[in-house]
Amino acid sequence: MSTLANSFQQQSSSPAVIVPGAHSLTVSYSGLCREIHSFQEKLAALGISAGSAVSIAIPNTYEFIVAFLAASWQRAIAAPLNPAYKQSEFEFYIDDLSSALALVPKGAFQQDAPAVRAARKYNAAIAECYWDGVEVVLDVKDPGKLGGVACGTVQMALPDDVALVLHTSGTTGRPKAVPLTHRNLTRTMKNIQATYELTPHDRTMLVMPLFHVHGLLAGFLAPLASGGSVIVPTRFSASEFWNDFITYKANWYTAVPTIHQILLKNPIPNPKPEIRFIRSCSSPLSPKIFDDLEATFGAPVLEAYAMTEAAHQMTSNPLPPGKRRPGFVGLGQGVEVKILDQNGDEVAQGAEGEICIRGENVTKGYLNNPTANASSFTKGGFFRTGDQGKKDAEGYVMITGRIKELINKGGEKISPIELDNVMAQHPAVSEAVSFAIEDEIYGQDVGVAIVLKDNQKLSGDELTKWMAERVAKFKVPKKVFFTEVMPKTATGKIQRRNVAEAMLKQEK
Ligand code: ATP
Ligand code: MG
Repeated sequence: MSTLANSFQQQSSSPAVIVPGAHSLTVSYSGLCREIHSFQEKLAALGISAGSAVSIAIPNTYEFIVAFLAASWQRAIAAPLNPAYKQSEFEFYIDDLSSALALVPKGAFQQDAPAVRAARKYNAAIAECYWDGVEVVLDVKDPGKLGGVACGTVQMALPDDVALVLHTSGTTGRPKAVPLTHRNLTRTMKNIQATYELTPHDRTMLVMPLFHVHGLLAGFLAPLASGGSVIVPTRFSASEFWNDFITYKANWYTAVPTIHQILLKNPIPNPKPEIRFIRSCSSPLSPKIFDDLEATFGAPVLEAYAMTEAAHQMTSNPLPPGKRRPGFVGLGQGVEVKILDQNGDEVAQGAEGEICIRGENVTKGYLNNPTANASSFTKGGFFRTGDQGKKDAEGYVMITGRIKELINKGGEKISPIELDNVMAQHPAVSEAVSFAIEDEIYGQDVGVAIVLKDNQKLSGDELTKWMAERVAKFKVPKKVFFTEVMPKTATGKIQRRNVAEAMLKQEK
């Protein structure tokens, strides 16, 4: 059956979860399952049942893992939230789902933390959740609308129950709530397992947060479906990454390009650990970073393409001996991928259009958003990703931009990703992000924010001259902004409109 409870290789003799650090913890598959059952009983006793929303504002920890899995096994809807949110952000998400219960870390209630204040405003029950050395404790601090007298029974989730609601990153607009069923999640888990041939011998270092699909599905659930082990530090730390990686014998990790870049800038362990592969996803990986990663770590770098609505992965470059192609996000992995025009017809091979996908992993539609739902699916049941792209003759997908972020210079569509990749090759450039700026004549023109490498000098004129030798004249940036740091979201995503705003503000 396609449910989270049935998807783990419960008989695996590898550890399921390893928490590094001073209070290190190694949990077997059977131990994890016992813990989840016991937490499920605690949730049931509190009155959490089918369809209850449980907001989880806890960082990457063992207690997050247990709470998340127990809620979904109990037929409730788990709603992980970034613990660093401000009160107004927590309010938005808790209200959006009418959460019955908010789980927070130990001490949060006493400190009247932002998540606690937000939960109280919407009368959700509030419970602290922590590992006391023996078990994961559920310490109810405020019974809220659950009332505190309920004593429900343990339930068994069905494949079409919503297990998880996450919001999209809000890169192109307001975040949209995406319900994902057990069937959606387990399909992605199987797809990822198959793509990377994950086995019980694999060990991954979790570096991405568990409140987005990247960390939750690729960094955590797929390895568990494979019987392998997940090493779970509370947060990504460049200085501790390799130490943990080597100590706990990890052999792969998945991350956004920002994290790969940070690792490249930090000391590389000697001797180098054996890495089976490095996965990159969620933002464009420039061919330059791809090359640097492969040369530095001697491991194949596999770029994948994912989105919340697809319960994460849609395409990926294959493991060797399959061909991996820098600048491409690879082949559909258990997911049908078509490039369609505005009418929903397939474009000619090699032509650009909207990347559209179909598969058991894809959500049936956003919560409370009929407008977005009406425009997001084609007649044939394909989901419109909002990403522009094309396929080469072998079916490898290249993303050329987000439809909403393409720079429209007098009708000429310019892909910002293409320009970023060219500029990243300039020897003085560390990061380049292009975006649309207003232009009196063309409507829009190209602006670019540049972070220089340490001790490098470059003027705007030098860069545009260099670009003019490499791209068509209409694509050469009109305005170059230099900045010390590139504005990014918590998960390392570039929001081009925010970068544009920050650069224009900086200029004033
Ligand atoms: P919103 O939908 O709210 O605007 P978002 O699309 O950023 O936000 P996510 O679901 O977190 O929210 O991200 C999915 C998007 O991330 C994809 O549609 C795509 O634009 C981008 N993306 C994912 N993987 C890659 C990749 N390998 N290369 C380039 N872009 C990628
Ligand atoms: Mg999106």
